[in-house]
Amino acid sequence: MTVDTQAAATDVLRRLGINEENPGAFCGTWLDTSGEPLESRNPASGEVLASVRAVGEGDYERVAAVAVEAFETWRQWTAPARGEIVRQLGNELRLHKEDLGRLVSLEAGKVLSEGLGEVQEMIDMADLAVGMSRQLYGLSMHSERPQHRMYEQWHPLGPVGIVTAFNFPVAVWAWNAMVAAICGDSMIWKPSQKTPLCGLAITRIAERVLTANDAPPIFGLAVGDRHQVGGPLVADRRVPLISATGSVTMGRAIGKVVSDRLGRSLLELGGNNGIIVMDDADLDLSLRAVLFAAVGTAGQRCTSNRRLLLQRGIADEMKRRLVDAYQSVRIGDPLDPATLMGPLIDENAVDDMMRALDTVRQQGGTVLYGGERHELGGCYVQPTLVEAPAGLPITCEETFAPILYLTEFDDLDEAIALHNSVPQGLSSAIFTLNVRSAERFLAATGSDCGIANVNIGTSGAEIGGAFGGEKETGGGREAGSDSWKIYMRRQTCTINWGTELPLAQGVEFDV
Ligand code: NAD
Repeated sequence: MTVDTQAAATDVLRRLGINEENPGAFCGTWLDTSGEPLESRNPASGEVLASVRAVGEGDYERVAAVAVEAFETWRQWTAPARGEIVRQLGNELRLHKEDLGRLVSLEAGKVLSEGLGEVQEMIDMADLAVGMSRQLYGLSMHSERPQHRMYEQWHPLGPVGIVTAFNFPVAVWAWNAMVAAICGDSMIWKPSQKTPLCGLAITRIAERVLTANDAPPIFGLAVGDRHQVGGPLVADRRVPLISATGSVTMGRAIGKVVSDRLGRSLLELGGNNGIIVMDDADLDLSLRAVLFAAVGTAGQRCTSNRRLLLQRGIADEMKRRLVDAYQSVRIGDPLDPATLMGPLIDENAVDDMMRALDTVRQQGGTVLYGGERHELGGCYVQPTLVEAPAGLPITCEETFAPILYLTEFDDLDEAIALHNSVPQGLSSAIFTLNVRSAERFLAATGSDCGIANVNIGTSGAEIGGAFGGEKETGGGREAGSDSWKIYMRRQTCTINWGTELPLAQGVEFDV
């Protein structure tokens, strides 16, 4: 870290209420946690930013007990009153946007504009949730029985466990927390052990809003790894919903435990997102979209473009343009406004990328550009283009790094079959100026993903729609549309306002 950057980091942390050493659990008060200190490192420099004491013996239990208690009170607040708390939280985030954006860059290695974008996404989620707090609508339906009325209503569900990944250290909490809050739920957040400071900073802001309003401590926090927090949280029968974002491996493990206790899980897992570029595509548009989707966040988005399917007529031209563009990607400190690509999150991620590239070579793929660690050292790598013949086994795996596999095809049917041949199903896109090709891609026999775009890349979704994916991506949906329903329990009510007791389906039961 240069001296300036280090001084800037110290200022940002101080303004966000983070000390050199910090307690790692909040439940209305900050607990003097007894676990091992967890060092948060800046992936750009390797230096320690601050340390957080993870939860130890008994700490999780205290957080969980308070979440249960807080739920009892919070669920009795009206939904619009809950929305008012979320509105104020959104305003606090606006005030701290710059510092929070910098913290995301410092801790997760994202370039500043993406760090700021993540905080903006939290603010947008708050605004959306405030509106939702007046629209938690149920349906009413006609009863088959005379003088009866039937309707559905939605009640708060209970404490929600929120497990988040390192790559969206604040936005994913907001996707869940803003909506869960207006739905009347309390929460226990387990942030990634790679980004605990983001968890701390956000919880300190939320704490101030709760205290100012005399609201129950609904925003709980427990910092620790999958053993210290993950295990107890996921197995906790008092927590009816576990919303977990992370790898497919994590989702499999969590899904089993939650389903075994017949709980509800919302899984947002790995993606392996493809873009199809047709011969008739606008290549300038395609290139810009692919570049952001494949290189943005150093390929560490769940929606990063990992597979680029090129129709043969434009394949050579697109490859040439991509190599040129990759050469001009500015790599460096994420806080430098000129930087387009920062480092990977840690050394393990670099090793995973290099191992994947060894496998590529063994399986018969060819590195067209990049393929090495970057001369800056540390966690920096070269964004990489790989020519991958159709069916190369490694293209079915998500390597969380900037590797883009290029595969050629002849016609759209072949492209869609190739596109859908991977186990994951998060985001997808086609570039074409032909309305028939676009509609074919969006049809029931087209993309099998939760997100399907035309002339837009795979990453950078807006919050108004439901976000999530199919197949091994887990099937969960978060953010906008009717995603709020998973944070509530549905109740079907029938009221007899007559003097008779007719039974449904014409059943007679008279004595
Ligand atoms: P990860 O799976 O290693 O960890 C994610 C979180 O799960 C962390 O908080 C971790 O401590 C916790 N965890 C892991 N195993 C657990 C277990 N057995 N029990 C309880 N908790 C457990 O993922 P990561 O490296 O932090 O993030 C990258 C992954 O997340 C990628 O696969 C990416 O695609 C995925 N992701 C998906 C989405 C989405 O919305 N679909 C969004 C962001 C990231």
